[in-house]
Amino acid sequence: MKREGIIMMAMLFILSAKSQTSLQKLYPVSFSNVKITDAFWKPKMQTVASATLDACVNYTQNKTGRIRNFENAAKHTGKHEGIYYDDSDVYKAIEAIAYSLKNYPDSELEKNTDQWIEKIAAAQLPDGYLNTYYILTDINKRWSDMEKHEDYCAGHLIEAGIAYYNTTGKGKLLNTAIRFADHIDSVFRLQNKPWVSGHQEIELALMKLYHHTQNKKYLALANWFLEQRGHGYGKGVIWNQWKNPDYCQDGIPVKDQRNITGHAVRAMYLYTGAADVAAVTGDNGYTTAMDAIWNDVVYRHLYITGGIGAQGSNEGFGKPYDLPNGTAYCETCASVGMVFWNQRMNMLSGDAKYIDILERSLYNGALDGLSLSGDRFFYGNPLSSGGNYSRSEWFGTACCPSNIARLVSALGNYIYSTSADGLWINLFVGSNATVALNNEKINMTMETGYPWKGKVKLEIAPDKKKYFDVHIRIPGWLNHPVPGDLYRYESSNTEKPEIHVNGQPFSYKLVNGYAVLSRTWKKGDLITLEIPMKVKRIKSNPAVRQNEGRVALQYGPIVYCVEGESKEYNSKNVILPPGAAIEVKYEPSLLGGINVLHFNAPVVTINEDGLSVSTTNRPVSAIPYYSWNNRGSRDMQVWLPSQIRQIRINE
Ligand SMILES: [Zn+2]
Repeated sequence: MKREGIIMMAMLFILSAKSQTSLQKLYPVSFSNVKITDAFWKPKMQTVASATLDACVNYTQNKTGRIRNFENAAKHTGKHEGIYYDDSDVYKAIEAIAYSLKNYPDSELEKNTDQWIEKIAAAQLPDGYLNTYYILTDINKRWSDMEKHEDYCAGHLIEAGIAYYNTTGKGKLLNTAIRFADHIDSVFRLQNKPWVSGHQEIELALMKLYHHTQNKKYLALANWFLEQRGHGYGKGVIWNQWKNPDYCQDGIPVKDQRNITGHAVRAMYLYTGAADVAAVTGDNGYTTAMDAIWNDVVYRHLYITGGIGAQGSNEGFGKPYDLPNGTAYCETCASVGMVFWNQRMNMLSGDAKYIDILERSLYNGALDGLSLSGDRFFYGNPLSSGGNYSRSEWFGTACCPSNIARLVSALGNYIYSTSADGLWINLFVGSNATVALNNEKINMTMETGYPWKGKVKLEIAPDKKKYFDVHIRIPGWLNHPVPGDLYRYESSNTEKPEIHVNGQPFSYKLVNGYAVLSRTWKKGDLITLEIPMKVKRIKSNPAVRQNEGRVALQYGPIVYCVEGESKEYNSKNVILPPGAAIEVKYEPSLLGGINVLHFNAPVVTINEDGLSVSTTNRPVSAIPYYSWNNRGSRDMQVWLPSQIRQIRINE
């Protein structure tokens, strides 16, 4: 009954969204209609449901004062513990819990979360305001510094409220969130009082609230927040002390922006929200800006891991093509944000290039943030290490753990989409899905060994025979690492996967990166896709001086690295010469089961005189980048020199 109700809700959403002057072409199938059976992802989701959420709960409730802040705020006594934005970690943990409970019901966890929600709701002021930092310090100072994350926390409260309602049917947190959203609307938009969000997030959250409630004031408020930027309205530390409005993308109005600036997570959340608004309002001003900004990110600022934000100083973007490896910031949250934004760009365009980037960030830059055990986290994800960098149990600023938890728990959101003319297969993840296409139900079953094997079997089962298109993404990485010329394969490729329908070769059109299979589909129809899987050697654009003379390895969507073997070699001394033979071997007991790349490599040693060097050929193995630092702290390199003279230490 509950499941049918959710399918009905999803259909209603599709119908209502389509009735606007919409720019939206694709409608992602909600994770609640997708059951993941995948050999790669299902164990990771189980680990998140247990170890990662345990860590989030333990640190939120016991090891830090995040829940105590709400208890104290309800009584208006006691001091605020932690940092002013810590409420957001509670909300993000609840959101992750809500998604995970959908896949893995857990009455204890749900009961504990209900208790948190009681405390959160009790802390809300009569006028709807809710922020434990200002309630416990000086409420008269609320809404005085636009950097203080009050609206950011509100955004995460909204997302958590909707997620928890969708899973449990319990509306207390959602009602709390709505009261806070209404407070913000009445204090700012309705009084025409300027407010520039110092950390964007509320825009995308308000769009979720708009879709959930169908109340247009939340759409208006989301758009209002976007329009506040770039007019010099900012007040607070970013503007008055740092004098750096670009840090939060407030230098010029959003629609005039053409280049990426500032803090990476802020940027990703901003453009995700802008895409959500444009999808409904049809405002081309946002899409024009975002097309240019996306090109700037992907052509000049993107790490091969899909990570973004080269600099720690601003947790964000530096100069074009300046992509240091050892000090690469690449915050986990920024890669999570890349997943959000690129999904929205795909929704607006129907272009697979956005899913290519989404997939790269997901399998590499984002997944690296989480240990295989699920209870250790990277905040930054560098591409080389001297061996002194490890995942942590938690952070003072703890945005990343719950962000990766909510992403993995809701992975089902990114696999399938629908449009007016058919189904879209974006990611290759073993799953069963139920989708509604023009009010008719279609069941889909995908089986695959991706990302280790290229074979994908997709069964399409419409309730009734029906003519429609099935769009299957042909991975862009087959022939180019990424759009643009920031990276290229050492040897050029023109590979095209074979597609069969019911055992017969099927000729397909390739449109915007998707194979389009048009026919009358009936129950039991089977599509098979064979994606050629080979080791790819990647070179950087010469403008990236840090990668000069170096090569990176990729297999399928997975970027590889070499981790040092203490007695055998340090990764910085491993050379990968042109044409080296590389053998791929699946090793089920290593690092959760991975394809390992084996090759013989010259390894540099410094001679006893301390002045000269010699090389010895040794067997070297490369492992998926996301899996490094799971065997203790070791040195690591993604970009390997192809000749001895190009060895440099950890730049
Ligand atoms: Zn983070």
